Amino acid sequence: MRVLITGAAGFLGSHLSDRFIAEGHTVVGMDNLITGNMDNIAHLMGHERFSFIKHDVSNYIYVPGQIDAVLHFASPASPTDYLEHPIPTLKVGSLGTHNTLGLAKVKGARFLLASTSEVYGDPQVNPQPETYWGHVNPIGPRGVYDEAKRFAEAITLAYQRYHGLETRIVRIFNTYGPRMRLNDGRVVPNFIHQALTNQPITVYGEGSQTRSFQYYSDLVDGIYRLLHSDEDLPVNIGNPNEMTILEFARAVVEIANSKSEIVFVQPTDDRFTDDPKQRRPDISKAKRVLGWEPKVPLADGLKQTLDYFRDKV
Ligand code: UDP
Repeated sequence: MRVLITGAAGFLGSHLSDRFIAEGHTVVGMDNLITGNMDNIAHLMGHERFSFIKHDVSNYIYVPGQIDAVLHFASPASPTDYLEHPIPTLKVGSLGTHNTLGLAKVKGARFLLASTSEVYGDPQVNPQPETYWGHVNPIGPRGVYDEAKRFAEAITLAYQRYHGLETRIVRIFNTYGPRMRLNDGRVVPNFIHQALTNQPITVYGEGSQTRSFQYYSDLVDGIYRLLHSDEDLPVNIGNPNEMTILEFARAVVEIANSKSEIVFVQPTDDRFTDDPKQRRPDISKAKRVLGWEPKVPLADGLKQTLDYFRDKV
């Protein structure tokens, strides 16, 4: 296959590019580099089956030649990033999804959308099955990401139903690993940075909010399976190992063997507004239709991630 991956210089896009190259496919990577980083794909540059186009997919996309699959992963993805880039976030989820769908249609390619657990908002059902419609504040600070992704799902399904396009939608839950940006503001790079430099670990609020963290390689495997499956409705891919943020802070301190103390802070900017109180994927559908479940325990994934960041702090 020749696949187009948007957001290829990002955390997930770069790992996906690696997987497709490793499986013998040809990858065209695209990124506008507002949050992506060429360092993530430096090792692929010059590979005979990899090419890169610097482009903002919110503008008309031109890619010459055959394309068999389009994987749309371009978007700021951390709350700090999308609060800093609210309009590009709305545009890439809406116009960018429209453009990538249009490209898939003209090429006769299969389309896979990177959606998110954020479509469930601050969920009132836990764990969240794909059938849950969500609880999103459209006008809150997180709305720029959540609503863009909800629109992206809607237009993807419209292209499937109206144009007969082959589409796949993955709802990605919190994912971590090497190549996250140390300053992207998310809890994993923040805590790792703090732990490795023995600075206080900043738990927001009381730390009773929950998340469920999956290692990137499990996600990439789920996405690879989903693209090749027949499932055309959204599928959650995440690790159901739910914990409070306070428990997560303790785990990072322990595994990093850090001297950091844990402190409770109340961010005064928008970062903490509408922060979901709980999040855990129901993965029964992924197990059933993809034969997938996560394999990497938190301790192993965190060790790998700490090793990656050790010489970067
Ligand atoms: N968080 C925290 N300290 C930090 C960064 C984040 O306690 O330094 C919390 C944040 O309030 C949220 C959780 O960690 O409850 C996960 O935040 P993240 O930004 O990683 O992503 P989210 O899952 O909210 O999209």
